[in-house]
Amino acid sequence: MLDLIVARGTAVLPSGPELADIAVADGRIAAIGAPGSLASLGAQRVVDALGQLVIPGGIDPHVHCSWPIPMPGQSPTLTGPPAQVSRAALHGGTTTIIDFALWNPGERLQAAIERRQREWAGACHCDYGLHVMLQGKIPPEILGELGEAVAAGHASVKIFTTDITPSRRGRMIQFGDIWEILKVTAKAGGIAVIHAEDNDIVMHMYEKLMREERTAFTNMAEVHNTLSEDLSFNRVIRLASNVAGAALYMMHTSAATGVRAIAEARARGLPIYGETLHQYLLYSAEDYKKPQGQIYHTYPSLKFAEDQAALWAAMRGGAIQCVATDEICCPLKVKLQGRRIDDVTGGNAGVEPRLSLIYTETVEKRGYSLAEFVGLVSTNAARILGLYPRKGALAVGSDADIVLLDPRRRHVVRAAEMHEADYSPWEGRDLAAWPSMTILRGKVVVEGGSFSGTLADGQFLPRKVAPEIRTRPAV
Ligand SMILES: [Zn+2]
Repeated sequence: MLDLIVARGTAVLPSGPELADIAVADGRIAAIGAPGSLASLGAQRVVDALGQLVIPGGIDPHVHCSWPIPMPGQSPTLTGPPAQVSRAALHGGTTTIIDFALWNPGERLQAAIERRQREWAGACHCDYGLHVMLQGKIPPEILGELGEAVAAGHASVKIFTTDITPSRRGRMIQFGDIWEILKVTAKAGGIAVIHAEDNDIVMHMYEKLMREERTAFTNMAEVHNTLSEDLSFNRVIRLASNVAGAALYMMHTSAATGVRAIAEARARGLPIYGETLHQYLLYSAEDYKKPQGQIYHTYPSLKFAEDQAALWAAMRGGAIQCVATDEICCPLKVKLQGRRIDDVTGGNAGVEPRLSLIYTETVEKRGYSLAEFVGLVSTNAARILGLYPRKGALAVGSDADIVLLDPRRRHVVRAAEMHEADYSPWEGRDLAAWPSMTILRGKVVVEGGSFSGTLADGQFLPRKVAPEIRTRPAV
């Protein structure tokens, strides 16, 4: 007896979309067949998905839960906890989120990972993984521990090439240490995930704009600029190309220069991958000038129309494989607190509408195939970051993370009706679809907007990056 059959939907399978029935048993996909073909197996529940898209659960590979937000003149506040963000994620059809375990100088890496694991255990409604995040000066003993952490399932290592703002000194890792981290990560079979900006250029521009008294955040694109992305992407990619087996996932690519750096590396056969954020695709530095323009901001800054065009062009089999949120879930009051280039709050609420928003912008508005859309919001992240085929696929044996996306029901984004924050950068957007059901490992956790998940549902996901991902641009 099966637990569930999702029947007659347009299922986006690894081979492409087709009308299919999907059978679920013990949390996994047990069988996939033509409509009606699995009925004889019997199931406790049959869900009729006729007219709906059936896709693998979304994966947001870049979120920050319970994360300190600097507060001007006060101690930091924390972003929304995993319980809040994961609930919103499931409402929007995202069943896996990947957050960060931050190592602080002076502690053992394992201690940092265990601390974050304790915070998340029994505290997340959806499945989750953790990137290891390093910062500052890296002692040699941490490199040894890093290899163990990667091998133990924390397969991706976050590295900053910049302090981001003058007030956050300590984030940046020196290039020599980055070189060593890449060697260790490559040897252990992991991938480095990079926040790349040229620190000299960024800090120079902070000094220059402060000297010129042009400190309004609306000038942010002059600070976190396209030249910085050009220099830093090329420099770190060049470094990685000198380390055998070093794969890079370039986080929050924002500029045409970054796109070009990734594309050139991939053309040379290097395993370099690109993530962008929904904000960069759909908002530009012009949007900073709108009322409450901070709500569109994230680091590095929003850029310009030509950068957006390059990002969009790179989304179809080019330099960009994943669309993430860089989720910073906080109240509007906190998002609006900073007004200067050095104190505006980065990140955004967005994990809930991400899937439907990207569906609307790719499939409906730009004619992308359903497979391309699913790749950008789920499959590619699973493959690059070591979750495939457990996640990111509707395939026999995969976790039964299944979303029914209903393209017959248009949906207007209203923060008040969502589960994230008291604002949304997408407020008022008309979306071409919305999930009618989200299934996490065989359990229906959202149905028709009503939530039945529990904090016992979320599981930690150990990850292992496949060899082909680490040797060539395989996605
Ligand atoms: Zn981030």
